[in-house]
Amino acid sequence: MDTPPFSELGLPDDLLAAIEILGYERPSPIQALSIPPALAGKDILGLSATGSGKTAAFALPALACIDVNQRYPQVLILCPTRELAVQVCEEVHRLGVKKKGLQATPVYGGAPMDRQLRALRDGAQLVVGTPGRLLDHLKRGSFDASRIRMAILDEADRMLDMGFKEEMDEILAALPKERQILFFSATMNRGVSTFIKKFGNNPELIEIEQKAMTVSTVEQAYYEVRQRSKVEVLSRILDMNPPRLGIIFCNTKRSVDECTEDLVNRGYAADRLHGDITQQMRERVLKRFREGAVELLVATDVAARGLDIDEIDIVFNYDLPTDPEDYVHRIGRTGRAGRFGRAVSFVFGKEIYRLQAIERYTRQVIKREKIPSVEQVEGRRADLIFETLKERLETGGFDTYQENIDRLLEQGHTPTDIAGALITMLRETSGREGEAIQEDREPDRPSRDDFKKGKGERPEPRPRPEGREGRDYAPREKTYERGGMRDAGAIEGGMTRLFISLGKGAGIMPKDIVGMMYREAGLPDGSLGRITLFPKHCLVDVPEGLADQAIQKTSNAKLRGKAFRMDHDRGPNQ
Ligand code: AMP
Repeated sequence: MDTPPFSELGLPDDLLAAIEILGYERPSPIQALSIPPALAGKDILGLSATGSGKTAAFALPALACIDVNQRYPQVLILCPTRELAVQVCEEVHRLGVKKKGLQATPVYGGAPMDRQLRALRDGAQLVVGTPGRLLDHLKRGSFDASRIRMAILDEADRMLDMGFKEEMDEILAALPKERQILFFSATMNRGVSTFIKKFGNNPELIEIEQKAMTVSTVEQAYYEVRQRSKVEVLSRILDMNPPRLGIIFCNTKRSVDECTEDLVNRGYAADRLHGDITQQMRERVLKRFREGAVELLVATDVAARGLDIDEIDIVFNYDLPTDPEDYVHRIGRTGRAGRFGRAVSFVFGKEIYRLQAIERYTRQVIKREKIPSVEQVEGRRADLIFETLKERLETGGFDTYQENIDRLLEQGHTPTDIAGALITMLRETSGREGEAIQEDREPDRPSRDDFKKGKGERPEPRPRPEGREGRDYAPREKTYERGGMRDAGAIEGGMTRLFISLGKGAGIMPKDIVGMMYREAGLPDGSLGRITLFPKHCLVDVPEGLADQAIQKTSNAKLRGKAFRMDHDRGPNQ
């Protein structure tokens, strides 16, 4: 669903600023539909599942109605469980980060009373709680419900199912007559509707239309991955089947920036698109993507809108979308014009429920796959090198190297040795070291049966295009430890040292760096200091006053056609 920008929903500036910090680019449908009537003071009934962005849908109008100069409870949020109360309170804090003087506190059973009493006494304006414990506080007089302006019932159906009806009745009955209630429920049943009739004031029904959508030519899979292992898993999947073009979808601008940076640092030809990218830049990125100079596009939903490219063979949901319709749009970018396409989603913990909602929406099963091991990736890479080699041997045309080859043979090297050395070099330049992946399971997570393997024939994977970047997957610290070759000598006075994330392994030579520093970074002739090349990085000394200029001016530059990261060298212990 196309939703208007957050700035058009009537939210105050301090909340818009927080949304910007969080990097939410566009309201989810439930947010776009709930926020305006809630801000206008209407009661609402939102029928919406977890993962739809409903927390912000009620937390934003709740925060908007709080007067931070008054130190008594003004908003009450009722949740079925302690865990949800804590989560909701965290989201309230994130969205209220620019509201000076805001105090929000969770209140739930099974935790010591004194801290909750203190928070309530200290003047919390927003209280998030479970019904039982809140009623306790109400009865003790530690929670004052008399000046509540807005009450929110999160997962009303679940609270009623859990037997909290009496507590909810008592709490709501204690609210002032002039108040607003926002009801949220995943389902509608008689219990919920009776309850709403009793306490609601003609609430506006907000329901997200759920059309079934099918995308039959796309093979859909998911991997269970923790946030911090996402880039590693992404790299392994990419290395197992190098795509020609792929899109990686993230939910926020920040996530796009971080993912792109990680991919570029690992040597992939990746670039990004999101709402803060200028139109001119956007066109440049898209042109390079169409031409294949950029192989991986990292984007938010908004930025990828209108993208019309047939050759995309894989789409990643690096972050699972909040709106199932976005999922369908995202994966519809691949499998076009009768081609084979693959959609891969990263899911962790409770996100599995969001995935299930997507399955219900698309009426298709998304099968779980196992993360490829480092050994499998290595084996696959060796196969790809072998395939590329075979292809090259068929095309021939090696006469120009005859002299070099003869020389090596004369020196006593056998053809097998020469071929072996070349393969080793190839492997080194495209080599990587996998990182360990955190795979420990959350105890309460629902397990899913593995689904039968899809029947779709997968086309032969393509070997990486020639000149593909060498990848350094090892974190920098590791390079220092392992190599023990950190020493590039003392820095001369007036100079400072820069780090470049490509080295000998990627075929970089000192003249490449010299050329780039003078041409692209604009350093005056003769100003460059020592250049030291390492297998996977290099260090360059430049005049102190020109270092920032060099970093800035080369931000889009390439070395031997490869993107790289340049930064102040922070030494081995950075
Ligand atoms: P919820 O349904 O409230 O549990 O939200 C699910 C997830 O989506 C949470 O991690 C939110 O932080 C995130 N989220 C909520 N609204 C947006 C938005 N407009 N854009 C991106 N992410 C969002």
